[in-house]
Amino acid sequence: MNAGFDTYQLAEEHQALRDAVRALAEKEIAPHASEVDEQERFPQEAADALIRAGFQAVHVPEAYDGQGADAVATCIVIEEVARVCASSSLIPAVNKLGSMPILLSASEELKKAVLPSIASGEAMISYALSEREAGSDTASMRTRAHLDGDHWVLNGTKCWITNAGVSTWYTVMAVTDPNAAKKSSGISAFVVHKDDPGFEVGPKERKLGIKGSPTREIYFQDCTIPADRIIGEPGTGLKTALRTLDHTRPTIGAQAVGIAQGALDAAIAYVKERKQFGTAIADFQGVQFMLADMAMKVEAARHMVYVSAARAERGEANLGFISAAAKCFASDVAMEVTTNAVQLFGGAGYTRDFPVERMMRDAKITQIYEGTNQIQRMVMARSLLKG
Ligand SMILES: Cc1cc2nc3c(=O)[nH]c(=O)nc-3n(C[C@H](O)[C@H](O)[C@H](O)COP(=O)(O)OP(=O)(O)OC[C@H]3O[C@@H](n4cnc5c(N)ncnc54)[C@H](O)[C@@H]3O)c2cc1C
Repeated sequence: MNAGFDTYQLAEEHQALRDAVRALAEKEIAPHASEVDEQERFPQEAADALIRAGFQAVHVPEAYDGQGADAVATCIVIEEVARVCASSSLIPAVNKLGSMPILLSASEELKKAVLPSIASGEAMISYALSEREAGSDTASMRTRAHLDGDHWVLNGTKCWITNAGVSTWYTVMAVTDPNAAKKSSGISAFVVHKDDPGFEVGPKERKLGIKGSPTREIYFQDCTIPADRIIGEPGTGLKTALRTLDHTRPTIGAQAVGIAQGALDAAIAYVKERKQFGTAIADFQGVQFMLADMAMKVEAARHMVYVSAARAERGEANLGFISAAAKCFASDVAMEVTTNAVQLFGGAGYTRDFPVERMMRDAKITQIYEGTNQIQRMVMARSLLKG
């Protein structure tokens, strides 16, 4: 045997990061999670605590005043915050989602203009791809942008935009060439600032879960931005937006793993306390088997998420399969594990007096956003069948 064998073991700094984020999450985020959900309000305490500790956007490279944390480290931060409050975990998750198109494809000047404000916590950034009529079918978007002298002018509506209204920056995909031979090559990506003329945010959606994370439409009415706020070349926006998802689907997997772990931890504590038939319900084999299955699946999901993040960090080609698989598997596990946690709490699990019903509601979104799990399966199948 070799105690120093480090294959399939997180690096010491990753373990230390997990300990630090877990301590912060339990002390400063968990106490507000239930109230944030109940009042459907932004988790400001979590945002403040994450910014104070420098955990709100660890992925930003050092060259832009960030910490340059790798993709596995970023997943660990999101996972540990999600373990106590899924809404709060969308702060680091969406900061990565919104800034990834910039990191992948923007000019050096644009990177320097935007990324340091996210690294410092002065600003947050959202990602605006979806529209009412263009959800899974992203290429059929209708938001338009045209060049007018030294400005781009945007018109249209994006919907379902996470953290809209709180974010300062928005990465926005819009059609610049409606006559392109392929719809996907007529789309470009831009960075919009909340104070740009013609930009507005709509009312909050009334949601099943992640109620602390505002989801809103955003509107562009002759919204005018400087010409150099385009990300990459005209016509490359959808490609950049989809490449982004290869890097961020692992973060949604991490969020799902965190939610599932939170529910599993709560269920283990509860079954040891709760007595029926003169003994703790943890003594019943039927309960033990449920716990074993839940923990087994969480463990498998966690490994797949870290592998997908590590492969993204290495910049491997063909990330499509593993990123989609990690997000899809972890989110299906989160839904199953949180539902079983509610089951193990019995009637108490069905009330808002315990956290597991919130976790079950929060888990559902991980099967839907950044591409529904049907779309993930399409991505996986396409990768299996190509060539
Ligand atoms: C809370 C929340 C936050 C979000 N945050 C963001 C954000 O920050 N930025 C952003 O751009 N978007 C965001 N989204 C949008 C999200 O990514 C979309 O909702 C999602 O991609 C699905 O699109 P849709 O809602 O239009 O569903 P549809 O595309 O209308 O799908 C409806 C159903 O049909 C299925 N379906 C569709 N096409 C196929 C197919 N070809 N084969 C099999 N089944 C199919 C879907 O899987 C789904 O079950 C968010 C959504 C929500 C609810």
